[in-house]
Amino acid sequence: MSSSTYEVLNPATEEVIHTLELATLEETDRAIQKAAEAFETWRQVAPADRALLLRRFAAAVDSDLENLAQLEVLNAGHTIGNARWEAGNVRDVLSYYSAAPERHLGQQIPVEGGINVTFNEPLGVVGVIVPWNFPMPIAAWGFAPALAAGNTVVLKPAELTPMTAVRIGELAREAGIPEGVLTIIPGKGSVVGERFVTHPAVRKVVFTGSTAVGKRIMAGCADQLKPVTLELGGKSANIIFADADLGEAAAAAPGGAFDNAGQDCCARSRILVQRSVYEEFLGLLQPIVEALNVGDPGDESSFMGPLISAAQHRTVSGYVPEGSPVAFRGSAPTGRGFWFPPTVLTPSPGDRVMYEEIFGPVVAVVPFDDEADALRLANDSIYGLSGSIWTRDVGRALRMARGLESGNLSVNSHSSVRYSTPFGGFKQSGLGRELGPDALNAFTETKNVFISTRA
Ligand code: NAP
Ligand code: MG
Repeated sequence: MSSSTYEVLNPATEEVIHTLELATLEETDRAIQKAAEAFETWRQVAPADRALLLRRFAAAVDSDLENLAQLEVLNAGHTIGNARWEAGNVRDVLSYYSAAPERHLGQQIPVEGGINVTFNEPLGVVGVIVPWNFPMPIAAWGFAPALAAGNTVVLKPAELTPMTAVRIGELAREAGIPEGVLTIIPGKGSVVGERFVTHPAVRKVVFTGSTAVGKRIMAGCADQLKPVTLELGGKSANIIFADADLGEAAAAAPGGAFDNAGQDCCARSRILVQRSVYEEFLGLLQPIVEALNVGDPGDESSFMGPLISAAQHRTVSGYVPEGSPVAFRGSAPTGRGFWFPPTVLTPSPGDRVMYEEIFGPVVAVVPFDDEADALRLANDSIYGLSGSIWTRDVGRALRMARGLESGNLSVNSHSSVRYSTPFGGFKQSGLGRELGPDALNAFTETKNVFISTRA
């Protein structure tokens, strides 16, 4: 197969910023082969040395932080504030997991007639497939714990957003990570991504993206019983009770729904408000949404940039056709770029905007009556990734948190992701967990060894 190229666009201007070579099947196979060879030495690197290399990698990311952030502004239209956080997250995830090689403990289990110990063995080559919405953090959540556990990694960025991944690959080499240990392979999902699934030397696939592609990957991996971690879509609820600080809840709601132009699997894209304060809440929310600063993502004062692509713009626009129940909207630039204004809908029950992931700055606000009603509405979804509960009643917050079918909840906050806590979804939002203290377990096999002490 001959190689092809891809024109990377700036979504804020539609200008071509780079022309990228896409990897062929043969090139992908060669990279996987090299990663398999590199595994034989990487797995033998002493834990303290592997830790040191990961700390150096973190330091290299830190010293390139502003460059990485500017690249993401250019390539993904992320606001500069967000992009700096994202590059900093790569550094922090690397530094968190740099402590793991020396603490990746096995067990000594009491048995008769000898000593029984367990080892956490690395899997081999791990394939990481990354989407375009958070190119830097999602890459690091896969490669950092995988490398710490002694695996080598081949990583496919999304075609739309390869720039920061390519740079992070260079930084790894500059930091002394040996060749073949972390290989970035820009290319098509149907070529490079599929090959991670079918190549027998790739021993695990970590996929973040759409639920539809995730299901195909899981089905494909079944053929070799290849383990998968899947981080997929969401339709999360932001549940606001009448006893909450309504001003704070209204001030925080746009961040929960519209951050990264709503292209966030954790977006709280359904706001459920207790009926007695429903109108009051909408009244508080309206001026805040109308004042949101949507514009040049490189400008420090911008709250939100453009959507990622023309295709995404079409998809999102399709959810707000003529005659939609728009309560109010913010503004957005006109002209070049994939701009979409923050939009608040007040749909009727059963409307598809209550069930389908829009992945754009569109939020649905609906009323509920009591705790049971809120739980029923929130759980009425094929997804279960994140969610928020706003109340001053701690008992209610905990009852709701326990009742929600969702992997990541926050009370009086919209935070979803911390590198030190587990992240992942219930139901069709995914399979397995990333981040947190146990992430290495997803990148190792447990080996049990019995040693006889019989004389
Ligand atoms: P996508 O089409 O599923 O793509 C995700 C990644 O998979 C891309 O790198 C893509 O490559 C690759 N891919 C596509 N088809 C493939 C195949 N047949 N085999 C292997 N890899 C393949 O998703 P998207 O449209 O980029 O992203 C939007 C969706 O992702 C949303 O539904 C969102 O909720 C979900 N998402 C979830 C999370 C989470 O953490 N749960 C995070 C981010 C996004 P190409 O670039 O070549 O298409
Ligand atoms: Mg796609």
